[in-house]
Amino acid sequence: MTIPFINLGAQYNIHKSAIDHAIHAVLDHGQYIMGPEVAILESALADYIGVKHVLACSSGTDALVLPLMARGLTKGDAVFTTPFTFFASAEAISLIGATPVFVDIDPETYNLDPIDLERKISDVKSHGSLRPKAIMPVNLFGIAADFNKINSVADKHQLFVIEDSAQSFGAPFHGKKACGLAHVGATSFYPAKPLGCYGDGGAIFTNDEELYKMMKSLRVHGQSTEGDKYDNKRIGLNARMDTIQAAILIEKLKFYDMEIQLRNNVAKQYGTLLCEQVKTPTIPHNQGSVWAQYSIQVKNRARLTRDLASVNIPTAIFYPIPIHLSTAFQHLGYQKGDFPVSEKIANHIVSLPMHPYLESRQIEDIARAVNQSVST
Ligand SMILES: *Cc1c(COP(=O)(O)O)cnc(C)c1O
Repeated sequence: MTIPFINLGAQYNIHKSAIDHAIHAVLDHGQYIMGPEVAILESALADYIGVKHVLACSSGTDALVLPLMARGLTKGDAVFTTPFTFFASAEAISLIGATPVFVDIDPETYNLDPIDLERKISDVKSHGSLRPKAIMPVNLFGIAADFNKINSVADKHQLFVIEDSAQSFGAPFHGKKACGLAHVGATSFYPAKPLGCYGDGGAIFTNDEELYKMMKSLRVHGQSTEGDKYDNKRIGLNARMDTIQAAILIEKLKFYDMEIQLRNNVAKQYGTLLCEQVKTPTIPHNQGSVWAQYSIQVKNRARLTRDLASVNIPTAIFYPIPIHLSTAFQHLGYQKGDFPVSEKIANHIVSLPMHPYLESRQIEDIARAVNQSVST
């Protein structure tokens, strides 16, 4: 029997009647685009995270593009981000014409290193060819970056902060929740994320009313949010969330906390069972994880993935190529060796199966197989 890496089917089976009912309600009222469920979801998400304004949108990627567009970022603007993330983080920056400037990561949390951030801001300032404008920290694998330090660096240099929380919706951080830790937060509801819908979806979180209005206009072709909707005010996108996805998310948000608890139980059991040769995740003081991934580091990763595959245990590698070494960003001129921590971790990281419905016996089997592989 293969152990699934994630198990969306188990979740659906438990909540089938509520989810089916929510989908059918949309089919019955027929407002497939911007139906009433979208505003209901936005207000539930705002309450959950503790921010004033939420915009549901078409994907996590568009949730990053919209705030960058709304701030008018353009050619010549530098946005500081991590190279150890999913491609979309840096892609959004380039898509609007700005330049991603990479900053190495912390070896424990795999998130943006605030000390290297200071260094890279100084480099850009002294070089003079780009204007430092914004920081896009990424909350990787379910754990928020060090926003206390990052926000103070941002204040000092007057930089705008966009939180890429696609993997960490609501992760606990010093009494607050991820998505609400910076000027603007973005998340993804891609099915495999901790809170996923049944297609593509995302959301943007902010307390800034002006920014919210601008993003709301850009979400629908730059349309006027007050006057004549056919007199478009600016160039925007079609970045709306489908009503059906909103209806599904309203239901799934209701049991999100319970699922995070279950994910925490899985992580705890992994932590007790895995042997010393395995580097397990580090959760900083006063923080928590929503366990988008349970990622470990081992010396011989190729052997581990092979050994686990031979007993039908799937693994995944997030991420084998740091973004500064990806083909699409060759033009930025980065070299191997530029981000030693990211590059080293990219060679040793591997993610084990993680979902709320992983059974104790399965976790024991996985841990036993891992321990055996790393100690032979
Ligand atoms: C998934 C992800 C995104 C993009 O989200 P989509 O909904 O797939 O567009 C952006 N950033 C990070 C870190 C992600 O993991």
